[in-house]
Amino acid sequence: MDTVSPATRRRMMQAVKGRDTSPELRLRAALHRRGLRFRVCHKTLPGTPDVVFPRQKLAIFVHGCYWHRHSGCPKATTPKTNVEFWAEKFLANVARDQKKRQVLEDMGWTVKEIWECEVGSADRADRVVDTLFPK
Ligand SMILES: [Zn+2]
Repeated sequence: MDTVSPATRRRMMQAVKGRDTSPELRLRAALHRRGLRFRVCHKTLPGTPDVVFPRQKLAIFVHGCYWHRHSGCPKATTPKTNVEFWAEKFLANVARDQKKRQVLEDMGWTVKEIWECEVGSADRADRVVDTLFPK
């Protein structure tokens, strides 16, 4: 027997579904609040950064703590089974991120990586933006 009503269940499922993109959306909303103009998902740039400031040559990636292995973060857990498989997969993800950063930096871009947990709420996203763009 389900312990929550169908409506509540639906809301919970939607929350899970939207979780992948919400850190990026929170960052974008915070940038908007500061009146900053940017582009989203710049496909012409290597690595397709999540947020791009073309004039400042600033590229921002919003990384999920788990898949991109936020060092020291409680969200960056490791599965207890198939440890080697996961270790290899995670290493490949991190190596790919480093490569993307390097390619962009070689092109004269500044690259910033924002972690999912750093933009966990609107307040925190505002603080991240303050750090990126000191007033
Ligand atoms: Zn994190």
